[in-house]
Amino acid sequence: MTRKPYTGGPLNALNGRAGISAPGNSVSVSGLIKAHGPRSAAELERLIAEHVPGNCACGIISQGSIQDFGRNLFAAQKEHWGEYRFSLTECIQWEYDLFVLQMLKGNMMEDKCKQALAANLSDQFQVCYASKYVDEEMRVDLEVLFNGDAIAGIQVKPESFNKVRPGIKTFNERANVNYGKPVFYATYNYETELFNEMSLLVERIRKIASARGLNYDKRVDTKTSHK
Ligand SMILES: [Zn+2]
Repeated sequence: MTRKPYTGGPLNALNGRAGISAPGNSVSVSGLIKAHGPRSAAELERLIAEHVPGNCACGIISQGSIQDFGRNLFAAQKEHWGEYRFSLTECIQWEYDLFVLQMLKGNMMEDKCKQALAANLSDQFQVCYASKYVDEEMRVDLEVLFNGDAIAGIQVKPESFNKVRPGIKTFNERANVNYGKPVFYATYNYETELFNEMSLLVERIRKIASARGLNYDKRVDTKTSHK
């Protein structure tokens, strides 16, 4: 990925107020990525447009193409601000960055986090993608299972998440409570694509497993008790 997506500024506030990217007005991009595994930005952009009629076997329906979302954002300016401050091209670009560039990056980093956790935890742990429901309603990207039981949720976020409006954080944290298990935030540096506190995260997950009495030391003891 060459360019860093730009999804901030006044258009971010407008996009939120006008609900342009709200699920009912747009498309589940994470669902499209999971169903079709696009390998490029162009492929994802095409998938979004192709799902407008909603006749794909994956069941995902898109309310429009990136151009349509950009047009909606452009029109919302007049409605909410009483004037046009950004060109149609800028509005389409903004939605492209949000739906295509940011989503592809986010998905790739979820994958990296999943692999890093699996590499650092023993075989008794499993790291898997959360279901669509858990993802959307509880804001959990990955689930950590210990001997088959879910023991923690993981949210994968760029470092910039630490600087977002408190309201967004509170919204996420409230959703996380519904998950009923600890939810940890794995934050990464956008440029280096490295996670900030992976070893701490691994430590916390191991601690939960121990606290639940599902300590693997015990298993080792059982196995070796005949000594
Ligand atoms: Zn499809």
